[in-house]
Amino acid sequence: MKLLHTGELYWPTTLAAPKQYEPLRRSIRVNAVIVGGGMSGIICGHRLVNNGLSAVILERNTIAGGSSSASTGLLQYSNDVMLCELIEQIGEQRAVQFYSACRDAVGQFGQLASKLPIDVGFQNQSSLYYASSEQDLPKLMREYETLHKHGFAVERWSADDISRHFPFRKPGAIITHGDAEINPYRFIHALADNVEAAGLHIYEHTDVVSCKPVQGSEHRHCLLTSDGCQIEADHIIFTVGYEPEELAGTFIKAELNRSYAAVTVVQDKQKLEQLWHQRYMIWETARPYLYMRTSIDNRIIIGGLDEQTAHPIEGEKSRQRRIERLSEKLAAHFPQLDAVFEYEWSATFGESKDNLPFIGQDPAVPGLYYGLGYGGNGSVYSMVASQLLTNLILGKHDPIAEIVRLDRPSLLNV
Ligand SMILES: Cc1cc2nc3c(=O)[nH]c(=O)nc-3n(C[C@H](O)[C@H](O)[C@H](O)COP(=O)(O)OP(=O)(O)OC[C@H]3O[C@@H](n4cnc5c(N)ncnc54)[C@H](O)[C@@H]3O)c2cc1C
Repeated sequence: MKLLHTGELYWPTTLAAPKQYEPLRRSIRVNAVIVGGGMSGIICGHRLVNNGLSAVILERNTIAGGSSSASTGLLQYSNDVMLCELIEQIGEQRAVQFYSACRDAVGQFGQLASKLPIDVGFQNQSSLYYASSEQDLPKLMREYETLHKHGFAVERWSADDISRHFPFRKPGAIITHGDAEINPYRFIHALADNVEAAGLHIYEHTDVVSCKPVQGSEHRHCLLTSDGCQIEADHIIFTVGYEPEELAGTFIKAELNRSYAAVTVVQDKQKLEQLWHQRYMIWETARPYLYMRTSIDNRIIIGGLDEQTAHPIEGEKSRQRRIERLSEKLAAHFPQLDAVFEYEWSATFGESKDNLPFIGQDPAVPGLYYGLGYGGNGSVYSMVASQLLTNLILGKHDPIAEIVRLDRPSLLNV
């Protein structure tokens, strides 16, 4: 079991008594099993149960306790790879289809959130994507032209526009409309409650230790838990986040890094809204990038400083040094706001080598599926995965399947 985050997370403090689920204590047979109860697993469970499939979710720890609770909750359709670059990588039609699917996924978060009985911090939001340097500006403007050409709601801002709306100046920016922000922890818990009521069983503290084909059956597989329970199923979906050991590295060409995030003390609301134009989510073209958003209770959430090592930093002092850099960066953008942090953490963060998620059936093992949303907008990929995997299981065509399949051509060259 990997350590996925260290430090003090913010989101779990926003839900007083998260519901707990019993471990699996007997062997069962089901239509579909989802392994992993994070953002991907719970949304996937929701989608399956709403399509009439019987399913269970097995979570080795507690739901929403993995990377999902370390997320900063920005829901953006723009990816780590710009649309203009993705067109070069996979062709215009597919790249636009993929970006459109991500935009639709953000909308689907909104639809789901509106049906949940508690406030899950969902807000439609726009993003300010600024050029970190003059050199990055032409590429960002090419991205503006590409998004505009393909019907995405986007604006172009000059350096003067930026400094008119914010207390900092950058060479230029694009504003994308149609993004959103969320509290991932409250969202997952509320949705889990909802899918359980719809008939999908969730088992916590249920660690899957092996997966083997059922003798004499072409597609059925049997999972074994560390407590010795067996789960036989037609469809097994691994939504295990950054712990895809089951794949043994065959198809997943991913890099695991570590990242940092922090949440400030509560700001003065009036001052915050005077200085921060319409609470836009902010990110930049530099890689690794810095990003910022505000929270419903008027805090600032900031993240970045990715490092090329898989394990979250463990030493308190080493983490504090990185977090101080986040504080300096925040103060450089908003000198009049309070850059004192109340929560801060370091977490493992996965990126795929071609900047696309891994979603689909195992090409070598029919009946096994993966929903691994590696990338800066991994939660958006969780939503895309839920739709795609449900379509695959129901035997329906999905145009996104070719783009994100595990043995896709764009991975051959990386
Ligand atoms: C610092 C940080 C900031 C981020 N910010 C954003 C953001 O702003 N926007 C965004 O879209 N994305 C963001 N992400 C990415 C996002 O958090 C992830 O893409 C998303 O949470 C992944 O969800 P998941 O369900 O796939 O994984 P997880 O939440 O990690 O869930 C996987 C679950 O599988 C369980 N599991 C694993 N193996 C087994 C097993 N063998 N048996 C049973 N259970 C198992 C684990 O215990 C875990 O609970 C961020 C990530 C980090 C680290």
